Amino acid sequence: MSKAIVSSLYDSDVFRMACRQFDKAADAINLPESLRDRTKYPRRCLAVSLPVRRRDGSVTVFEGYRVQHNLSTGPSKGGIRFHQDVTLGEVAALAMWMSWKTSLVGLPYGGAKGGVIVDPNQLTESELEHLSRRYMQEMVNFVGPQVDVPAPDVGTNERIMAWMMDTYSNHVGHVASAVVTGKPIALGGSEGRREATGAGVAYLARKYLEKMKLPVSKATVAVQGFGNVGSETALALRNYGAKVIAISDYTGGVYNPKGINLEKALAYLRSQRVLLDFDGGEPVTNEQLLELKCTVLAPCALERVITDQNAKRLRCRLIAEGANGPTTNGADRVLEQRDDIELIPDVLCNSGGVIVSYFEWLQNLSNYYWTRDEVLKKLHAMLDRASDAVEVQQRKFKFSRRLAALTLGIQRVADAKQSRGLFP
Ligand code: GLU
Repeated sequence: MSKAIVSSLYDSDVFRMACRQFDKAADAINLPESLRDRTKYPRRCLAVSLPVRRRDGSVTVFEGYRVQHNLSTGPSKGGIRFHQDVTLGEVAALAMWMSWKTSLVGLPYGGAKGGVIVDPNQLTESELEHLSRRYMQEMVNFVGPQVDVPAPDVGTNERIMAWMMDTYSNHVGHVASAVVTGKPIALGGSEGRREATGAGVAYLARKYLEKMKLPVSKATVAVQGFGNVGSETALALRNYGAKVIAISDYTGGVYNPKGINLEKALAYLRSQRVLLDFDGGEPVTNEQLLELKCTVLAPCALERVITDQNAKRLRCRLIAEGANGPTTNGADRVLEQRDDIELIPDVLCNSGGVIVSYFEWLQNLSNYYWTRDEVLKKLHAMLDRASDAVEVQQRKFKFSRRLAALTLGIQRVADAKQSRGLFP
């Protein structure tokens, strides 16, 4: 009967992309009309102004958001992004993907995402601390261990999570470790959380290479984005025996067919903050990196980098989506026609991060801490279960792997909404 008019607030390329993915999946599983818009659109959002006193005494007001997409199966869950190009629509799309991701891998969570429009590299340590604390201060009544549990994302890290946990704990008057995940170990962070997303990407990439009868020891790897996810993906694949031939960050990348010395690259990054002029190979642009001949291409930076244009020119065998939303709808259509390339979709491929966030939250709530081996064993088991379910779904309905993963995630959220009914 009536069509929704809900999306104008979030309208943007990336939100439309997430909506198109949803529509396609909803059609594929014949999701009843009465459940569609309820399942698709974010439940609520908060936009805040964040005044921060700068080093020179002036005050800058930053804008921040938190979008809670779905809370039907538990607290909403998802990272907070600090990046100069953040928009409310982007945060909403990322929140949607968190819902499908937590649901696909079977976590008792909904989906959410936060963001602040800021380039964290332009802030001093103390400005960054003030911004992070102010963000959490504004979110105090909107988040919580049983409501919405933030975590790191692009531009945020465990130090920022520590400030946020401290701010929230001061407000409620007791230690509230479970309010954020991705904390330092000293504050209740989990063993293995820092490397979890990249470790999961690498674990799944190796698994799919095996399926494709491509030995990981002969694989070459190109990684776009050398932040937390990209660098851990590169290290883990290298440790499995693969050769990492290209890496990049927002300043550009390096290509070395003999293999990049990752430790040197990480040391360079620590001292220079960017990969620009790193002499471990010949310079390549981010666009060139994507089109290099390699076995595994791991986009681990931002959304919408694989487009209908460059998708035709890719020369990899397997795309492992460490980033959220790196492939546009148009690129998906091109890739579906290319039987020389397999793809592990983001909601499955990078789910290791939120899986270990879940372990961290469980450890915080029970005050009982696990060893690294226990964490990794449980992580691998959950990744295996989720990827096996995706394979079954793909075969059963002849779906692309992305459609298989999305339909599983979306169906579970829709089922929960259906069972709970409409209130009042
Ligand atoms: N930001 C990560 C993601 O996109 C992790 C979220 C979390 O651990 O809650 O999956």
